[in-house]
Amino acid sequence: MYEADRFVTDHKDWINKHMTLVQKRLKKKKEVRHLEKDETDLLFSDAMKDIPARVEHFAPVIGVTYGRITIRNQKTRWGSCSQKGNLNFNAALMLCPEDCRDYVVVHELCHRKEMNHSKAFWKLVEEVIPDYRAKERYLKEHSEFIEMIT
Ligand SMILES: [Zn+2]
Repeated sequence: MYEADRFVTDHKDWINKHMTLVQKRLKKKKEVRHLEKDETDLLFSDAMKDIPARVEHFAPVIGVTYGRITIRNQKTRWGSCSQKGNLNFNAALMLCPEDCRDYVVVHELCHRKEMNHSKAFWKLVEEVIPDYRAKERYLKEHSEFIEMIT
């Protein structure tokens, strides 16, 4: 018997157990499909039209001004708002339902009044998006959309 064969025979149980574990782990890990460059480009150009229109709509509703709007593929965030009121949005938002896009826009615009996640901040958000918690949940559960374009 060759050495390798003997190893396999001797360790058959161990190998089988190990293989089962590896396969289980692979099954659990969600497969993320990375978008092709032209698909990502399309998302960005769609976002450049879609998101600013939502910002324009919600800014007067909340009663705030804003600066520049940039579409990015930030690694971990759906959106952000700078001290100066410049807004960043993740292009992956275009893979989410419209009401989730509205939520992220409202969230960032509310930071123009409250630069934190205090109770007062969430109250502002809730006035415009009463079920904002459901949107937060959706976005948390679909963070793989962000991975798809990064
Ligand atoms: Zn925030």
